[in-house]
Parts: sequence; C-alpha cells; structure tokens
Amino acid sequence: MSDNTQLQEVICIVCPKGCHLKVSPVDFTVTGGSCEKGIDYGIAELKNPVRVLTSTVKVEGSDLIRCPVRTNGSIPKGKIMAAMEEINKVALKAPVRVGEVVIPDILGTGVDVIATRDI
Ligand code: SF4
Repeated sequence: MSDNTQLQEVICIVCPKGCHLKVSPVDFTVTGGSCEKGIDYGIAELKNPVRVLTSTVKVEGSDLIRCPVRTNGSIPKGKIMAAMEEINKVALKAPVRVGEVVIPDILGTGVDVIATRDI
C-alpha cells in the first residue's frame, strides 16, 4: 500500500487529456489516469524522466541566422542542460536540409539532434 504523504503529482502528456497522476515513489503505484498508458508514463516519469529537446543553432551563409533543431528521440531530463551546451557550440553552414543530422548521438544517448527546416 502506498504512503499517501509521499505521492508525486505528474501530469500525463501521452495524450491531450492530460490526466493528473499520483505516483508512489515507494512502490510505483499510479492512480488518476484514465488508461494503461498513464501507468507506464507515471512510472517512467519517476524512474527515468525523458524529454524531446527543441532549440535553434546558428547558421552562416543565410538570411536566417538560426535554424530550428530537435532531438529525434527522447533524452534523459538530467542531460537537457548539457545537451543545450553542446547545441550552443554548433554553427551550421547553409544550405541546411530538414532532417540533416546536426549532432549525432548527443552525449552518448543514441539520439541525434536534427534540423527541422530547410535553410
Ligand atoms: S492516462 Fe491515458 S487518457 Fe490520461 S493523459 Fe495519459 S494517455 Fe491520456
């Protein structure tokens, strides 16, 4: 049985319904979700929270000075700041193609940072 005083509140972002979950850090029981996906999300959010990172990088040789980029998968939340530092070091040269890999395997996560528009 969960200790209700320690329940963590998590908003499920798997679908637009945005259920308010309560997750026990003791036994990882999840309540408050409307479907099974909320259980997996709530447990993952406490054990290993991950996010898709979006940002921009400098571009040289174009009227546009920044190119939007994102990770092509989720990376651990704890690596977001370090990933931003890596992204801020990059300067692309136009032309840039959508889907072009800007940083392969960022921080050894197995996830690439890719351009999200043509420049
Ligand atoms: S628990 Fe299910 S219904 Fe609720 S937000 Fe998550 S995916 Fe959507």
